[in-house]
Amino acid sequence: MDGSAEKPDITYPPLTRTDRCDALGCPAAASVRFFNAVSDLVYCSHHCNTYEAGMVSAGFLYYEDSRDWL
Ligand SMILES: [Zn+2]
Repeated sequence: MDGSAEKPDITYPPLTRTDRCDALGCPAAASVRFFNAVSDLVYCSHHCNTYEAGMVSAGFLYYEDSRDWL
């Protein structure tokens, strides 16, 4: 592991209040987007905490878009 992961050349639109957490059965609004060159997933802050380590070790990058859409 040398930390030289390449950033995929993708830009995603900001998350909106219609983006819902991709965790099964979770109704919360998404606040974090994980992405790689071929796919993306969005999670609420709770599931971000749950899945972050696994997603990052699987090569996903992510950003947080935490606006107040509760
Ligand atoms: Zn969730």
